[in-house]
Amino acid sequence: MILESELYDYRYPVKGCYVWRPYGMKLRRLVESYIRKLLEDSGHGEVLFPVFIPHEFFSKEAEHFRNFENEVFWVTKGLHGEERLILRPTSETAIMPMFRLWIRDHTDLPLKVYQIVSVFRAETKTTHPMIRLREISMFKEAHTAHATRDDAERQVREAVEMYRKFFDYLCIPYLVSMRPDWDKFPGAVYTIAFDTIMPDGKTLQIGTVHYLGENFSRVFDVKFLTQDGKIEYVHTTSYGISERVIATLLAVHGDDRGLCIPPHVAPIQAVIIPIMYKDVKERALQEARKILEDLRQASIRAVVDDREDKTPGWKYYYWELKGVPVRIEIGPRDIEEKKITLVRRDTFEKYEASRDELVDALLYLFSEIEKNLREEAWRFLNSRLKLASRVDEAHKLVEEGNIVEVPWCGKNECGLKIQERANSDVLGTPLDKEISGIVTDLRCPVCGERANTLLRLANRY
Ligand SMILES: [Zn+2]
Repeated sequence: MILESELYDYRYPVKGCYVWRPYGMKLRRLVESYIRKLLEDSGHGEVLFPVFIPHEFFSKEAEHFRNFENEVFWVTKGLHGEERLILRPTSETAIMPMFRLWIRDHTDLPLKVYQIVSVFRAETKTTHPMIRLREISMFKEAHTAHATRDDAERQVREAVEMYRKFFDYLCIPYLVSMRPDWDKFPGAVYTIAFDTIMPDGKTLQIGTVHYLGENFSRVFDVKFLTQDGKIEYVHTTSYGISERVIATLLAVHGDDRGLCIPPHVAPIQAVIIPIMYKDVKERALQEARKILEDLRQASIRAVVDDREDKTPGWKYYYWELKGVPVRIEIGPRDIEEKKITLVRRDTFEKYEASRDELVDALLYLFSEIEKNLREEAWRFLNSRLKLASRVDEAHKLVEEGNIVEVPWCGKNECGLKIQERANSDVLGTPLDKEISGIVTDLRCPVCGERANTLLRLANRY
């Protein structure tokens, strides 16, 4: 679909690197502009850091280094003397040395920055367009520094709320889970992750929020002068999303006829198709252009398809494949009766509206389409969320394309055994629902002790 709709091309001859085409870039810019707005509105400033990180910085935080070491690209030519550089896999180790220079005292805190850039991972496993990349080209990473743990954890909650808003806007359903200790971001105190479910039943991590404590500030010596004259280390957080959100948006809402893009971020929100029969051709075209003018006045992204060598039927399929939310047909009868015909991409339902009410009718349809896409996607996710009290049962359900919650005592050794025996991946413990009522009478399937939480299992991308 992404190739046929001329959105993205995966035929580029470098493994794990792909090409965004103009239609895809428009979609991407619309997605980016919303996350940018959320970040700017909550006091984050945009920065742009170099793609190179000195090896000396990168290797400072031991756990971070150990986990990323085999995933980084090294620069081996064009350097001078002892200089050793890597291509950033994420930017904590580039940003901290600069935070050290920028942060003096408590009035400099909190410090909140973000950038949307390329990061690089030397993936040796199978790469997958938009999902598993060597060049992640739409990495939105935010980095913050705070005076206290409390303030940093407040920031973590703010980031989680921001991501909820962001995914709601894109009509993407999600689970929010605390990643288990053995699967948190290297160098983090804890990691909160957003996962969604793809049509094949596998889950995809689409956003993460990390509380980094003083782990990075201690090794990079980022300190500040407190109000009462003491010197303390800052507490930091980082949180990121990538083009995986676009992969999700397309996979979750698409159908057998192609893409179905939510109107908020659709590069073209409405396509106007004049039915150009011989004697009414000029009038239909004229009317189509007038409508286009009206829609543009109302800031609706629209185009007229006036190609003469294509039939209306051919055009319908063409724009359905591209996922344009609404099609506007103008036939001879519509012009006579001062009406227009609107067709929804998500349900293919047809509506008639009077010409004067076109803009209102369209805006109403846009919100109805978004509501429907969001509800359908959430219905699918919820239908795939299961509870299993036995591990073999959990394994079977995961294999069938479900996300399965298993009662868990909370001990790492039991969690690892559950993961191993269920032969599946782990998402973590739910942060998006009240657990105590669910686990009261349940027991950990490994040690038999009373469960105090649930462990989410799935097949992850
Ligand atoms: Zn246990």
